[in-house]
Amino acid sequence: MTEPRRGLTPETIDSLLVDTSPYLSCDDCFALMDQYVEQVSATPSHEDPAMAAHLAGCGACAEEARTLLELLAQDAG
Ligand SMILES: [Zn+2]
Repeated sequence: MTEPRRGLTPETIDSLLVDTSPYLSCDDCFALMDQYVEQVSATPSHEDPAMAAHLAGCGACAEEARTLLELLAQDAG
């Protein structure tokens, strides 16, 4: 038997969502990803709070962004 998960209560999820507001979905994040990494690559000081918040909380998108940034960095030599 598996026990129900006890770590994530609705209250916990609410607090996570509040912490990461403005919160993008992964679809939103992926839609903005190319543009975002190009801007960061061209301007390292570029900041996008919504993207940063999502990437901080979403390992899959953070990995994708890192991979794209590495590819851009290689292109730039
Ligand atoms: Zn994501």
